[in-house]
Amino acid sequence: MSNITDIIHSIPVDPLTGAISVPIYQTSTFIQEAPGVNKGYDYARSGNPTRTALEDLIAHLEDGQVGAAFGSGLAAIDAVIKLLQSGDEILAVDDIYGGAFRLFTQVYQKFGITVNYVDATKAENVFDAITPKTKLIWIETPTNPTLKIADIAAIARIAKSSGCWLCVDNTFASPALQKPLSLGADIVVHSATKYLGGHSDLIAGLVVTKEKELGEKIRFIQNASGAILSPFDSWLVIRGIETLPLRIKQHCANAQLVAEYLEAHLAVDKVFYPGLPSHVNHEIAKQQAKGFGGIVSFSLKNDTEEAAVKLVISTKLFKLAESLGGVKSLLCHPANMTHKSIPAAKRRAAGVADSLVRLSVGLEDAEDLIADLEQALNQLSNTEGVSSLTEKKQIAI
Ligand SMILES: *Cc1c(COP(=O)(O)O)cnc(C)c1O
Repeated sequence: MSNITDIIHSIPVDPLTGAISVPIYQTSTFIQEAPGVNKGYDYARSGNPTRTALEDLIAHLEDGQVGAAFGSGLAAIDAVIKLLQSGDEILAVDDIYGGAFRLFTQVYQKFGITVNYVDATKAENVFDAITPKTKLIWIETPTNPTLKIADIAAIARIAKSSGCWLCVDNTFASPALQKPLSLGADIVVHSATKYLGGHSDLIAGLVVTKEKELGEKIRFIQNASGAILSPFDSWLVIRGIETLPLRIKQHCANAQLVAEYLEAHLAVDKVFYPGLPSHVNHEIAKQQAKGFGGIVSFSLKNDTEEAAVKLVISTKLFKLAESLGGVKSLLCHPANMTHKSIPAAKRRAAGVADSLVRLSVGLEDAEDLIADLEQALNQLSNTEGVSSLTEKKQIAI
């Protein structure tokens, strides 16, 4: 069965009424016939049928055994960290999502959980950085905002041989492109706020485990800590997933065209997109994912914050906002926005140049998006004045 048919038909029809859309069970509790005798639900923190439909759906899509839905991506990440105990170490990808970095360092460090960071683009780096205390390896692939790729299968083998769990934050790729559990990972997390929801209208997080036993532990934490997703937002994520493969196909096609356009532009320095043959990990990306996603980052030849700021306020279709993965194209300037809290030298060393701009390429027509970037880049060279014009002339000669 094709991926799309499978997704559409793995969303259950309501067994009670035949409703084709999953009903929203807006209830806090469930009446019991006798103490402990119920229809599978007792209290809606512990379980809600709308949430269950989403949890089973994401487990199925990620080829896992157990899914759990949370009130945000960070709440999902938080639940995974609660599998650990004081004295355990996490080995995390060095350009990890900023919110995860803050959670690790400002919340969990004081409980004795420490984190080491590693460039995971080479699996041997991960192997070398493991210590006897490493309990969890944490990767994102592609990463944010420089779209670095890690070899999931190779790192999964390292995790297995070292007796630790591998968790992959699969937010950027989504299960429409990449299934980490099938490549050997133990846990997948999502910010469903992004591609799974897909419409920039909710905050949600998901955890999926490959094994039932680990999934039961996550479920226990979900109920014990209580950061559950509401019935309505669960329904919105299900609704988003119905069109996930179609949307992702278009995000990828548009992003590829935008990346190719930018790579040929004289005002652009580097373009980061795994779908470009010039990307360092293009081959691994091609092997482990069905496509390269909708996020494209690029830096400018005039590598200044001023130039990037001018660019991001000059686009008309690309709206200036944090977040990604929605229908409408967004752009942001990480140095001033998502990565502002990171000291400049550390940020630059991680490949986030002062002029780096991140695009979340949406579902508009690619030619309109490219025209929008073109007019914004032109404005840049108009005010940059003589230097960039001279440079262009020299290249022309
Ligand atoms: C947005 C994001 C998160 C956090 O998710 P929220 O839903 O905002 O809590 C985690 N990981 C990645 C890769 C993200 O992009």
